[in-house]
Amino acid sequence: MARFSSESIERVRDAVDIAEVLAPYTELRRAGQRLQGLCPFHDERSPSFSVNPQDKLYYCFGCGEKGDVFTFLQEKEGLPFAEAVETLAERFGVDVEREQEDPRLEEQRKRRARLGEVLDRTAAYYTKYLWESDEAKKARTYLLGRGLSEASLREFGVGFAPNRWDTVVMRGQQGGVSQSELVAAGLVKKGQKGGWMDHFRARIMFPIRDGRGRMQGFGGRATRQEQRAKYVNSPDGELFHKSRMLYGIDRARAAIAKKGRAVVVEGYTDVIAAHHAGLEETVAVMGTAITPDQVKLLAAHTGEVVLALDADRAGREAMLRAESVASGKRVRLRVAAMPEGEDPAEMLKGDGPGSTAADRFEALVDGAVELSVFHVGTLLDEAELGTPDGRDRALNEVVPVLKGMPDSITRDELVREVGEKLSADPGLVARRLAAAPRAPRPAAVAAAPAVGVGEESPFAPGGGGVAQSPRALTTQEVREQALLSMCIAAPTYGRDYVEKLKREHLSTPAMGRARDWLAEHLDEPTKGLPEEDVELGRIVLRLAEKAPSEPASPEAMELTFLQLEKGAIERRIAEAEALGVSEASVDLQKRRAQFAERIAHHQSDVPTQSARR
Ligand SMILES: [Zn+2]
Repeated sequence: MARFSSESIERVRDAVDIAEVLAPYTELRRAGQRLQGLCPFHDERSPSFSVNPQDKLYYCFGCGEKGDVFTFLQEKEGLPFAEAVETLAERFGVDVEREQEDPRLEEQRKRRARLGEVLDRTAAYYTKYLWESDEAKKARTYLLGRGLSEASLREFGVGFAPNRWDTVVMRGQQGGVSQSELVAAGLVKKGQKGGWMDHFRARIMFPIRDGRGRMQGFGGRATRQEQRAKYVNSPDGELFHKSRMLYGIDRARAAIAKKGRAVVVEGYTDVIAAHHAGLEETVAVMGTAITPDQVKLLAAHTGEVVLALDADRAGREAMLRAESVASGKRVRLRVAAMPEGEDPAEMLKGDGPGSTAADRFEALVDGAVELSVFHVGTLLDEAELGTPDGRDRALNEVVPVLKGMPDSITRDELVREVGEKLSADPGLVARRLAAAPRAPRPAAVAAAPAVGVGEESPFAPGGGGVAQSPRALTTQEVREQALLSMCIAAPTYGRDYVEKLKREHLSTPAMGRARDWLAEHLDEPTKGLPEEDVELGRIVLRLAEKAPSEPASPEAMELTFLQLEKGAIERRIAEAEALGVSEASVDLQKRRAQFAERIAHHQSDVPTQSARR
């Protein structure tokens, strides 16, 4: 990690207030010299998470998680080390020195920072214009009429672009910003007659930032009848990549980590209204369709995504498309059924937390159903139930969706419901289900673009889904299960590896729970399994069953662990790239290469492992 001088890192550590960093994740109380609270890494009722505010270290007596401010951000927000340092340096106002930076990367970083500054200044101008100009009066009335408060709108930096051709062009000239930089920032474009003109005119402006709060571009909403496009975004360019951005992610990130879920809505004002109502884990996609990169970005922060898109046809189709986009990702997708004709902003009308409207919206989000359940419901709603032919067609469409669901009570209930709705014998539905091929639905696989970053990627099609179909295990899953089985088979060495395995090594939250369980019950893993967690029980039983047939040597365990570690680094690389932090991924590439080397070294010791490559 030669990115920052160690002296710089120490200065960041000195400046950081660890209590402030931990605050969004757990409530800490003073206990003598230390601070104490509920552990943000495991579920517990009495506090075993202890923080030393002088040395800025934490330790959990319950699960053994320990570390400093940097590891905390690495673990909880999935940030690579360099980014954790940079984030804290920015937040606590420390200038860090970079060591041996690749000059090209340095140039790129500086240019991005410069373009970001230009965007920031423009956003500030637009905000001032929204609140102070006569021209923006109608826009103000519209926004406040949506129930959004001035305070919320100011928090999100909402503004107004004047209806002139050259506001930004002129301001840029006066401010010494070159035309080419304004173009690169997506603020200015070439007009038909060859002159330069503003990209946004007479629009309500929503600044769009990345996960670290850096300006990337704008979304602009039309304010006049004659404007052809209701929404215009910054053009894709050096900073802005529409398909990779999530509006509000900068303000939602901590809440997503804390609540363990993200809520996805359709519009900018929906996000602002939802945050005001207390659902700060809300973000919006740009346009209706959620893209593979957006799912990837969300999957880096949480295992659960609730889609709260409009109930109209376009919204429903977008949610079903999400099913194929997310196929193979480590996220559980659920759908909050919005009432027809209402979007979250309308429903909330600017009401704050605890209001009836906020409670109603939150209840919809809490009660969100699995995407597959929603899918079956949609198919049944659209079926022609009047004729046996129509019912047959509906059954043909429903069976593959049911087949894609894990064997569960939810699925059994759904099978019964389908039988009733189609006036068919439930036995018939069950038989058709049993006879259907086990392969994932071809449509879903074909529609999911290849976003894999290597053979072990959890993002590769078919890998690591949560509530997904019973299917062949990915390499990653085979490895994590093998290692945990070996730990059960040889607990003397195994205990260390169970400790070393972190959430980032494991493909699903359930595997994480299995790890937590084994950390405490490695000697008798199948005894006293909690009944309420069926998935945990299933996993632990399977691991224990396979344990006797695993070649549980310390070498095999070390090799498998190294492979999982390499996989985790590869995921961080993908994540850094999705966030557009290519500098971070260079460090990670180096680490990846080191691990590849160590793996190659170990492989010669453990010939039996070659089958698992
Ligand atoms: Zn803990």
